[in-house]
Amino acid sequence: MAPMTAPVSSNRPFLNRRLAAFGTTIFAEMSALAARTGSINLGQGFPDTDGPARIAEAASRAVLTGLGNQYPPGPGVPELRAAVAAHQQRFYGLGYDPDSEVLVTAGATEAIAATLLALLEPGDEVIALEPFYDSYAACIAMAGAARVPVTLRPHAGAFTLDLDELRAAVTPRTRLLLLNTPHNPTGTVLTPAELTAIAELAVERDLLVVTDEVYEHLVFEGAHVPLAGLPGMRERTVSISSAGKTFSFTGWKVGWVTSTQALVTAVRTVKQFLTYVSAGPFQYAVAEALRLPDAFFDGLRADLRRKRDLLGDGLRAAGFEVYQPQGTYFITTDITPLGEKDAHAFCRALPERCGVVAIPNSVFYDDKDAGRSQVRFAFCKEDHVLAEATSRLRRLAS
Ligand code: PMP
Ligand code: GLN
Repeated sequence: MAPMTAPVSSNRPFLNRRLAAFGTTIFAEMSALAARTGSINLGQGFPDTDGPARIAEAASRAVLTGLGNQYPPGPGVPELRAAVAAHQQRFYGLGYDPDSEVLVTAGATEAIAATLLALLEPGDEVIALEPFYDSYAACIAMAGAARVPVTLRPHAGAFTLDLDELRAAVTPRTRLLLLNTPHNPTGTVLTPAELTAIAELAVERDLLVVTDEVYEHLVFEGAHVPLAGLPGMRERTVSISSAGKTFSFTGWKVGWVTSTQALVTAVRTVKQFLTYVSAGPFQYAVAEALRLPDAFFDGLRADLRRKRDLLGDGLRAAGFEVYQPQGTYFITTDITPLGEKDAHAFCRALPERCGVVAIPNSVFYDDKDAGRSQVRFAFCKEDHVLAEATSRLRRLAS
């Protein structure tokens, strides 16, 4: 007997048009591939060693003593908001009111989503540096806005921003610049001169700026410079960071936004309907982590700088062209010297060929040709893991 009504799926696809182009994230795809094949996972960016034991103990203490086990306050627990404000003051001399200018989120991911959903109207243009972190494109699409990529291009062994190209990308419809420094996946750190030029452009064209600074403590040469500290920027910048990368607890998903009261209020309005709140006990532990002494932050940076060099040397020896990252814990390479052309095909075959998983940067580009032969490796792994991975990768050249 025929059904009385046609199944709902026959009318149109379930996933709406704004998101139809988005499938499974490359990180999930590649981590599943690593698990399935037992490969070394230098794909998804998570450390293989957890953060400080005393911070893990603070989280377990919070759970056991009932701190944050019930809904924490919407903007985040006061201890964490105070610690975020103190961190911005201590490292950058930036003053934020913990009660009205700091918002705790479910990782930087939610901060990015809530910010873009809050600040954009359908049809607004958003300029983002390409290759871009995958959630940017998805969140811009969710907001019904249009992304306008400005491509970072390899130059003298690293990726650089063409400021003229950036200026030329601004139109009367541009609402917002979405920046990420240190930059995932290229490891580019925008220089003070570039940041100054960007700030001048933002003021001149009256743009909002969202800065994703999750790798703020992983700058290997010089120091991280938050755009919000430049003239004219505090009132138009939403700064985003999170605990995942800095404290090596990527699963805790505690992030934060700092900005003016008006901008934080806008972001909070959206955030309260996404998760409302999250990670109650972890918020207390992250508050403690943000107060760790300078030696912790210096040690993290020194350790990862050493790992960068270890992996970089190994990748060069294996025949890759290596773009030296100035920050983050990723190295972008080019596979052309290995006689390879297509990063996605290369990454799909890599576990079979030598038991290593990496990320094809091509998925982070609108201009697929620009990133077709780029592959990203994460170096937030134990030294022996990096050594074993590069020794396996050396088989590719033979
Ligand atoms: N932005 C960038 C550039 C990232 O690499 C990541 C991954 N950590 C995120 C945002 C998301 O951070 P979180 O895990 O805190 O949501
Ligand atoms: N930020 C991590 C990376 O770039 C991935 C996080 C995620 O899986 N969403 O590898």
